[in-house]
Amino acid sequence: MAIATINPATGETVKTFPAASTAEVEQKIAVAHERWLSYRRTSFAERAGWMRASADLLDAEADEVGRLMTTEMGKTLAAARAEAGKCAKGMRYYAEHAESLLASEPAEAGPVGARRAWATYQPLGVVLAVMPWNFPLWQVVRFAAPALMAGNVGLLKHASNVPQTALYLEDLYRRGGFPDGCFQTLLISSGQVEGVLRDARVAAATLTGSEPAGRSVASICGDEVKHTVLELGGSDPFVVMPSADLDRAAEVAVTARVQNNGQSCIAAKRFIVHTDVYDEFAEKFVARMRALKVGDPFDEATVVGPLATEQGRTDVEELVEDAVKTGATVLCGGQRPEGPGWFYPPTVIADITKDMRIYLEEVFGPVASLYRVADIDEALEIANATPFGLGSNAWTTDEAEQERFIADLYAGQVYINGMTTSYPELPFGGVKRSGYGRELSAHGIREFCNLKTVWVGA
Ligand code: NAP
Repeated sequence: MAIATINPATGETVKTFPAASTAEVEQKIAVAHERWLSYRRTSFAERAGWMRASADLLDAEADEVGRLMTTEMGKTLAAARAEAGKCAKGMRYYAEHAESLLASEPAEAGPVGARRAWATYQPLGVVLAVMPWNFPLWQVVRFAAPALMAGNVGLLKHASNVPQTALYLEDLYRRGGFPDGCFQTLLISSGQVEGVLRDARVAAATLTGSEPAGRSVASICGDEVKHTVLELGGSDPFVVMPSADLDRAAEVAVTARVQNNGQSCIAAKRFIVHTDVYDEFAEKFVARMRALKVGDPFDEATVVGPLATEQGRTDVEELVEDAVKTGATVLCGGQRPEGPGWFYPPTVIADITKDMRIYLEEVFGPVASLYRVADIDEALEIANATPFGLGSNAWTTDEAEQERFIADLYAGQVYINGMTTSYPELPFGGVKRSGYGRELSAHGIREFCNLKTVWVGA
């Protein structure tokens, strides 16, 4: 994939970038490692000052960077500005809390024959982040804010279609005051990632993206015995039971499916509805999906912009076509519009069977699958049937049912009467092929630390 800004609303190539040479990558790794040797000794207060200054810049530049994101990957401008604001909040969260989240853990000295014993969190070193284009700021910031606050330095290999946002991030942290080399962007292809991972000066890696990319990075890091965090795909269930507030559930279901033009790992993708309320929910949901305004992502009235890449739209179309060919019913959407840009309409399909690709695979676009179920057991069976386990959602006011969903939805997160999202205060991650490790909260900042045991004798 060329490293280039290509406007998904028009298909026009706006700017291309040459990939960094091996010598340039080597130079950046050398700078990162050299910087880490001094940066690791800076105080939490110093890092927090730089992080807060970076957050202030980001808030002030939300419109400017928002326009860049919209141009590069097609999210609506309103969503892009909101993402910048969310990042600034996340940065301030770690500026404020990093020191307490990484406080040393005292241990009982007597039983281990020590005068004093404890465990202390120390940074690992240079961490490579391989990131996707769908939340081009937030995916990076939720790695970089905790990692930098813990005393690591970061190298970013961003998705090839968001190079300008990637360069903006490097510039942002530098202008915020972080010493040169603390956070650098590598404009490299995915084929160049292996060389970086195998470099002895690179201590660990985090990847957010597809399963094949995760598998590749994890296997190289396995070979090198380096720590990894993987945040991969998802096909989140959204279960609706008879006691749910159906109007509210239908309203949230639409947002949960079409947020970010349908391209979110934690978007609800499969809507599993109890037969007693299926028809009523389906009617409300389809009416809302059909009414969404699709179009120019810079237009403030637009809710759904284009998909980010031409290939991404083809992938969505193929999944829908496969389902229709084998008996699924299209309740709305399902046909790409005429004209330029990689638009795809909000789509709802029903009558899905186990032999359809869509039953198991993730749809990375605004396509909702509707399932009718007889009871909670069948709802859970379908909800847990995919190879993924990222987020999950269940709508019910029955407390026994709530407990059942909390216990039996096999996923990294469960949201009851709400939709899966991410907050700096809560751990974020998945099980099964959605990956491993956790981002955000105390867990996210500790992923890239060496928990060093200290034993001091008499
Ligand atoms: P992708 O192709 O895997 O790309 C993600 C990143 O990995 C890009 O920087 C890409 O670089 C790089 N990459 C691709 N193949 C690689 C390889 N073999 N070795 C090293 N790096 C490689 O992902 P995508 O399809 O664009 O993004 C959508 C996927 O990401 C979906 O499955 C979505 O669910 C998942 N996602 C997960 C989360 C989460 O938090 N769990 C969040 C967002 C998205 P190039 O661009 O240069 O190919």
